[in-house]
Amino acid sequence: MKTIIIGAGPSSLMAATQAIKNGCEVILYEKMKTAGRKFLVAGDGGFNLTHDGSFDDFVSYYSHPQIANIIRQFTNDDLISWLNGLGIETYVGSSGKIFPVKEIKPSMVLKTWLQYLKDLGVKFVYNATLEDFSLDEVVIKTKAGIEKHQFDHLILGLGAASWPKTGSDAAWVSLFTAKNINVVPFQASNAGVNCALPSEFLKEFQGAVFKNVVVSHDGIHRKGEIVLTNYGIEGAPIYYLNPFIRKNLLVPIYIDFKPNFSEKEIIEILKNCKNTSEGFKKLKLPIPFVSWCKSFLTKEEFLSNGIIAKLVKSFPIQPISFRPIDEAISCCGGVSWVELDENLRLINYPKISIVGEMIDWDAPTGGYLLQACFSTGFVAVNHDL
Ligand SMILES: Cc1cc2nc3c(=O)[nH]c(=O)nc-3n(C[C@H](O)[C@H](O)[C@H](O)COP(=O)(O)OP(=O)(O)OC[C@H]3O[C@@H](n4cnc5c(N)ncnc54)[C@H](O)[C@@H]3O)c2cc1C
Repeated sequence: MKTIIIGAGPSSLMAATQAIKNGCEVILYEKMKTAGRKFLVAGDGGFNLTHDGSFDDFVSYYSHPQIANIIRQFTNDDLISWLNGLGIETYVGSSGKIFPVKEIKPSMVLKTWLQYLKDLGVKFVYNATLEDFSLDEVVIKTKAGIEKHQFDHLILGLGAASWPKTGSDAAWVSLFTAKNINVVPFQASNAGVNCALPSEFLKEFQGAVFKNVVVSHDGIHRKGEIVLTNYGIEGAPIYYLNPFIRKNLLVPIYIDFKPNFSEKEIIEILKNCKNTSEGFKKLKLPIPFVSWCKSFLTKEEFLSNGIIAKLVKSFPIQPISFRPIDEAISCCGGVSWVELDENLRLINYPKISIVGEMIDWDAPTGGYLLQACFSTGFVAVNHDL
């Protein structure tokens, strides 16, 4: 059986892994000079390969219920066992994120995996771009010119639209649209949020980190660390809240700087201090918060323990928009589920499967993105047995 895979991201590499194990002839084409560029970028930022947790909890982090059926067939535990088999030991970080052990660098994970695939007989062709496809023929542009290949199974793992310099530039969308394949428009996800904060304030305090805060939006809460930037805020809780913020940008984001204290307790602490400044020190409030209060409150407001306590517990920040898609960690949008059967084959092109971020799903960072990529790659091929 001849399996052609296009794109050399983690979803395609997992599809190649399963296809070669199933005894298929596997050729993988990639338009860049090397494989897994975005995978390596993910490595720079922490490299959460997956996340700890029970199946039900795990799949609750995904936007689309179809993903549950995909992950069920190749779970976080399956991924860890598979990585261990490759010689990549993992550990669970304090937040539940699963990383390769410290001495194994992201580039080593990729190198080991690629070597394993080569040893099993997967053929890699770089500088090779998908140009077109029909029911059983694919057109690829290589350095040598245009090539046409027949296939028994074509797997497309061309990625989404963020970080286009890694090769995932979503140029394939126009090809799909021309073939009447429904693609939900891409939008930035796991992205920072532009906020209506005074520019002089942002300029002065960009880079400030607020640890152990609770960020809320429209009744949804997330604890963690956020960073003030020159445009607004970013960080894991903000990324988690992205889908909710996207639904209603008019609703403010609230930061609770002291989640372990009630408003009443904060008022008590402030009351027992000589003045508000001593109260700020006692509560160990971050300097940007203190500066904001000093600059933007009236004297009466600044001296009111009630107003300060309210701001400590629920400091409002108005979101304006998301950062551009180029900067986002991932995207929502992609090939619509209505185009796919349960094995991720295109209904109107039954010999063609779609894997990874090309499909319309969304999840927070922390290993959920890569797990879905690995699982879709697994599922696309598993039924070829
Ligand atoms: C900064 C950053 C940090 C991240 N951190 C994490 C993390 O810690 N944990 C996590 O789970 N996820 C993380 N991710 C997300 C993760 O990297 C992606 O979910 C994953 O790489 C997507 O895999 P994929 O196989 O779908 O596509 P991609 O990795 O995007 O690969 C697609 C490949 O297809 C190729 N291609 C595109 N078009 C064509 C064409 N026409 N012809 C031939 N080849 C083509 C591209 O060159 C590319 O190599 C991070 C992403 C970024 C940007």
